[in-house]
Amino acid sequence: MSLYPLALRIAGRRVLVVGGGTVATRRVPGLIAAGAQVEIVAPELTPALQAHVDAGRAVWTPRRFAPGDVAGAWLVHVAVDDPQAAAQVSEAAEEHRVFCVRADDRDAATAWTPAVTRHGQVTVAVTDGGDRRRAMAVRDLVAHALEAAPPASPEFKGVALVGGGPGDPELITVKGRRLLAAADVVVADRLVPGILLGELRPEVELIDAAKIPYGPSAAQEEINRILVDRATQGKFVVRLKGGDNFVFGRGGEEALACAQAGVPVVVVPGVTSSIAAPALAGIPVTHRGVAHEFTVVSGHIPPDHPDSLVDWAALARLRGTLVVLMGLKNLPAITARLIAEGRSADTPVAVVQEGSTAHQRSLRSTLGAVTGETAAAGIRPPAVVVIGDVVAVAEQITPALG
Ligand code: SAH
Repeated sequence: MSLYPLALRIAGRRVLVVGGGTVATRRVPGLIAAGAQVEIVAPELTPALQAHVDAGRAVWTPRRFAPGDVAGAWLVHVAVDDPQAAAQVSEAAEEHRVFCVRADDRDAATAWTPAVTRHGQVTVAVTDGGDRRRAMAVRDLVAHALEAAPPASPEFKGVALVGGGPGDPELITVKGRRLLAAADVVVADRLVPGILLGELRPEVELIDAAKIPYGPSAAQEEINRILVDRATQGKFVVRLKGGDNFVFGRGGEEALACAQAGVPVVVVPGVTSSIAAPALAGIPVTHRGVAHEFTVVSGHIPPDHPDSLVDWAALARLRGTLVVLMGLKNLPAITARLIAEGRSADTPVAVVQEGSTAHQRSLRSTLGAVTGETAAAGIRPPAVVVIGDVVAVAEQITPALG
């Protein structure tokens, strides 16, 4: 069969979807993403479709299909199981000269949806004589090839602040990984998953921010200068950080420096260790009936230091979960202060070192004992300290963790 491939500009145009079950649930999001005016005719909807309707992204006519429904549609999707009902829609579509996609019968269809992979502005659509499985296999091959060698795209400009996640290279986001693969310059940090850097094309300029030979604040100025300088040269710069750039990552300062220099910035949030490291040790930072809040605090400045911006007395009064980052060195002062301000010395505490990596280890203790036990166990940074009753929940969860 010879097919004529085509890409449709469907935005603002009426598309009729007949059926409200699982097939429609899979098709409708793509139509919405393309801006189509989606109209669903079906006696019932799945909860996911109902959510689109409730949000105003699609319109629902709650009844069975009637041939007149096709009038005025640019495209029809048949997503019903009943072959007779489907044939009725096909017939009406044919009569109105509207293309009709049929999930139930590819030979009866006048249009097919291809298997698709999107990479920024590039969309690859694969059809294979209606054999959807084979089309998807080819699509996967192409997607893989594009991930390895992304085509240059005008979308990439300026500086992307990309969160690299807590350490496991699989915990970077899909978008983060795609932008990283397209970078001309990568400014990386000590805590980024190193293996991601091994995948960079050889011509990429890799700058190790940890090796910039100045004091901490001068080094940050130098990083800002490098980001702006390379972006101004027309290069696409990725600033890759561990976790999320805006959680104790100075991402805000870098975004400001770019804004002041007129350099466009893309923010790609990352999986922050403040949530991920506890989670991987079986600790949910919130838990029904246990903690309805969690607070993430930096422990890099001791509680009694004049530069401290943290209200430790207020934190000691909270029932919820406290997650302390960069807190190992000051752990004795922090735990002593929390106890002195009224938090019980029996409060469960966990310390999770190098969460998500092959070196992950964790220790469970109490607020009163954790300092000594952490030292005795030889726990080292990077580690998060989790304080609160949610730590006790982990006892029931950890046995199930792979
Ligand atoms: N932007 C990062 C945090 C940077 S501050 C994020 O969102 O995760 C550095 C601190 O993060 C470390 O001292 C440690 O407390 C914590 N940290 C980072 N990666 C970690 C990991 N894999 N396991 C445990 N703690 C981690």
